[in-house]
Amino acid sequence: MTDWMELEKKYYMRTFAHLRLPVVLVKGKGARVWDETGREYLDFVGGWAVNCLGHAHPVVVKALNNQAKKLIHTSNQFYTIPQLQLAEILVQQSCLNRVFFGNSGLEANEGAVKLARRYGKLKLNGAYEVITALGSFHGRSLAMTAATGQESFHVPYLPMPEGFINVNYNDIGAIKEATTAKTCAVMLEPIQGESGVIVPDDDYLKKVREWCDQKGILLILDEIQTGIGRLGALWGYECYGVEPDIMTLAKGLAGGVPIGALLAKESASVFIAGDHGSTFGGNPLACAAGHATMKYIIENKVTGHVVEVGTYLIERLKQLKDKYAFITDVRGRGLLLAVQFNSDLAQSVQMECLEKGLLVNKPKPNVIRLMPPLIINNKDVDRAIDILDKVFSGINK
Ligand code: PLP
Repeated sequence: MTDWMELEKKYYMRTFAHLRLPVVLVKGKGARVWDETGREYLDFVGGWAVNCLGHAHPVVVKALNNQAKKLIHTSNQFYTIPQLQLAEILVQQSCLNRVFFGNSGLEANEGAVKLARRYGKLKLNGAYEVITALGSFHGRSLAMTAATGQESFHVPYLPMPEGFINVNYNDIGAIKEATTAKTCAVMLEPIQGESGVIVPDDDYLKKVREWCDQKGILLILDEIQTGIGRLGALWGYECYGVEPDIMTLAKGLAGGVPIGALLAKESASVFIAGDHGSTFGGNPLACAAGHATMKYIIENKVTGHVVEVGTYLIERLKQLKDKYAFITDVRGRGLLLAVQFNSDLAQSVQMECLEKGLLVNKPKPNVIRLMPPLIINNKDVDRAIDILDKVFSGINK
C-alpha cells in the first residue's frame, strides 16, 4: 500500500501549524468520514467549518454532477446562470445588495478592504486605514496577515503592509481611540473563531455599528466562519441585531467547494468597471454547489435545527464541565463551540479523541473547538460526548 504520509513528508510544503493528524481520509458521508484502513470517525471538525451539509450530501453532489456535465468554467467575460442564481439568493436572504465572488475567505476579505479603501478615496477624503481586532483571523495574504491581529503571524513576513490598526476585541473604547481622519472602516468577526471561539458582549457590535454611523465609516463583518447558519441564524450579524455595510463569506457557502463572496450595501458598493476581478471567482461549478447548498439550508430551515442541536450540545458539554475540574470554560453559539482547559491539554485530548473515533480541532494549546456539520443530530452529539467523557476520565486519573 502506498505510504501517503511518507509522500507528504517528501513533496508537500509543511506549513500547517498543528501538522496533520496521522490519518489519510478517503471518504465521507454525512457527519462521518473513513480513513484508508476503513476506520470510521465522527467528524466534529467539519473541514474547519466548511462541510455544513456534511460529506457527500446528495443535493451538493447532484448540483456538481449536473453542472460539471454542462459547463465547468467560462471566465467572467460572460454571464453564467449559477453565478447569478447564487448572487440572487444571497441578496434576497441578507441585508446586503450586491455580491462579488472569489475562491476563498482571504480573497473575500481582500476585496472587502479594497472596497473600503475605494470608499475612503471617494467619500472620506482618501481615508484608508482599517481597524481590526487583536486575536482576529482574516486570512493569509500579506494584507490579510496585517489585518489579522496576531503578532506571531506578522513576524516572519515583516514589514507588514500599512493601513491596519489592531485593537482589543470587545472593547468599543479601543475602536474609538484608534479612529482618526484616516479611518475608512472597522473589520470584525462576530465571534472570533481561530482565537478559540471568543464571544463578545451582546451589545459590542451594536456599539461598533453606532460608532461607525457616527463617524461615517464602514462596518465590515468577516462572516467567513460565522455565516451560513453556523451560529443558528443564517448570518452572525442577525444574532447581534446589527447590519454590516460589507460582509464576507467563504467556508460553508458551497458545501465544501472552494468559494468566497464579498457582499455590500448599495451605499458601499463603489467599485466601478476595472476595479476588481478574478479568473475563477464565481465559476459556474462552485456557484452551482453554492446555490444548491444555500437553497437546501433555507428550504429545510437548517438554522432552526442548529439552534436545537447546538443547545443540546452545549448543555451536554456543560455537564462535562461540571464533572471535570480541569475544564474551565465551555462557550460558543450554535455549532461553533469551544471547551477550554486549565492547562495545555488540547493536543492530548485531540489525539485521544482521534484514537476513539472523534475528530476535534485545537485552535489553542488549551482549547478544543467543535464545528461539526450543521446536519448532525442528537445521537451524534451523544456519541461525541461519550467519547469526550471517556477521554476526560483518562485525564482525571
Ligand atoms: N476569516 C475568518 C474568520 C476565518 O476563520 C478564515 C479561515 O479560517 C479566513 C478568514 C480565511 O479563509 P481562507 O482560509 O478561506 O482564506
